[in-house]
Parts: sequence; structure tokens; C-alpha cells
Amino acid sequence: MSDPTSLPRARIIAIANQKGGVGKTTTAINLAAALAEQGLKVLLVDLDPQGNASTGVGIDPADRDKTTYDLLIEGADPAEVLHQTDVEGLLIFPANADLASADIQLVSNEKRSSMLRDALRQPAIDAMDFDFILIDCPPSLSLLTVNAMVAADSVLVPLQSEFYALEGLSQLMLTVRQVRQSVNPDLRIEGVVLTMYDGRNNLSSQVEADARANLGELVYKTVIPRNVRLSEAPSYGMPVLTYDSMSKGSMAYRALAREVIEQNKARLKELQE
Ligand code: ADP
Ligand code: MG
Repeated sequence: MSDPTSLPRARIIAIANQKGGVGKTTTAINLAAALAEQGLKVLLVDLDPQGNASTGVGIDPADRDKTTYDLLIEGADPAEVLHQTDVEGLLIFPANADLASADIQLVSNEKRSSMLRDALRQPAIDAMDFDFILIDCPPSLSLLTVNAMVAADSVLVPLQSEFYALEGLSQLMLTVRQVRQSVNPDLRIEGVVLTMYDGRNNLSSQVEADARANLGELVYKTVIPRNVRLSEAPSYGMPVLTYDSMSKGSMAYRALAREVIEQNKARLKELQE
């Protein structure tokens, strides 16, 4: 860990929140697509047995021959798991229900929390020269999510603009601290993004005020509005940027991508030199 030359070139971001339905997958897909639109090379890692990120970028379940399960548990060749998507510069390791058994299989493995890190650090992946690797986590603080946090440089947390949004965040932060104290001392919080924001709703602005008061700078300036195009796009197997390029959802994820790029610029620049 202390040898910087062993670090992957790509910036690895785990998109995590143990609550379901808060916009993790929507953020993973559309932030990835927005980064790719900026000319960056992005790998999306579907780490949820539901495989929603895979479906959302148009990977047919029948084509998911080899998945992140095979990568993690079977030591599959990354090239065999990798799929190109219809978005230039956006590739994915897809998932399916196979991954549901990974948690149990990992428990008895001595390297149970670092399987994904080891898989992503293979020279074959390094050679693909990704700028960003985004990991779409399952809705739990299971071993899969811990694997994502161990593999990652940082954690990006989508927060649904709803009552109780901040509840559960302390549990997530505790897991981050535990991962820091054990295997990944450099793990950072990339940022917190408010999702499904409804400007006409007092509750949304109240949650936003609370989040900014409690988390300060960690909260992105960009908020993701509730936008029906965002919820329609996955059924067409497209990021919203492809499905409806000028929608509010597309604009918001482009703005979020700009913030993420800005934050990582120093590092990207360093890497490009
Ligand atoms: P998670 O991955 O955290 O479970 P999803 O990204 O799958 O959450 O989002 C849950 C549901 O809400 C999905 O049906 C998705 O299409 C919808 N959704 C997510 N973000 C938005 C948004 N900003 N506006 C409208 N619908 C959204
Ligand atoms: Mg999801």
C-alpha cells in the first residue's frame, strides 16, 4: 500500500450508501457517461447482484457470460469480463445474480476484503488506461461494499433528498473509518450528492440545508433534480445523456462530472505528465 508505483493509474470511486433506491446506480451510470463525454476513459464496475448498472448501459443479461463474480471469485481474465457500451469511452464489468453468493464465498477467504482491489490492480487493467473506475455498490454494508471501499481511492455518497436521508450516514462513515483503520488508510470521501431533489418541496430544501450544515464542503454544489427522464433511460439501456441529452437530469450529471473532474484535476494532471 505504501508503494505509490503499485497504485493503479485510474482514480477509483466507490458509489455507496447502504440504503436502496437512493440513486447509487443512476449516479454511477450517468456520472460515468458524463465523464466519458468529456473524453475520459471510464470503467463502470457493477458490484450489485441486481445488475441494474449493467442493464442501464444496455448489456443484455444473455450477454453477461462472465461477470464481476467471475472476476472476484474465479480469477477470470478481465478482458473476458469487459464489455464496451454504446457510449464511447465507457466500458463495464457487468454483474448478475451470480454475485449474490459472493458474500458467502468471500467469508471463508483470507483475502475476503481485498479481492476486488487485487482484481483491479492487475496489469491488464492498468494497461487499459482508465481515467476513472466507478464502482456501483449493492444496498448494504456487506463484504461486497467493503471490497469496493478497500479497492477505492474514495467514496461518493448519493443522498436522497428525503426525510431520514442523513440517518444511516453515520453507519456508512463508521464503515469507512473501519476500512481506513484496517486496509485502506488513504480512503477519502469524494463527496456527497443530493439526489431526487425537488425544488418545489420544502423537505428537499430542508434536507439540503441539513446536509450542508452537517457535512459542509463534502456536499457537491450540484444537486440532482427529480427528473422523469432519469428514471426512463434505464429501460432503454441508455444513460440519460444518450436518451435525452438536454434533459435536466443530463445537465445535472454533466455539472456533477465537472465538479468531480475539478477535484481530481491535480491528480489527473500529475498522471498525464
Ligand atoms: P439505488 O442504486 O441506490 O438503489 P437507483 O439509482 O436504482 O437507486 O434509483 C432508484 C429509483 O429511482 C430508480 O427507479 C431510478 O430510476 C429512480 N431515480 C434515481 N434518481 C432519480 C432522479 N434524480 N429522478 C427521478 N428518478 C430517479
Ligand atoms: Mg443500485
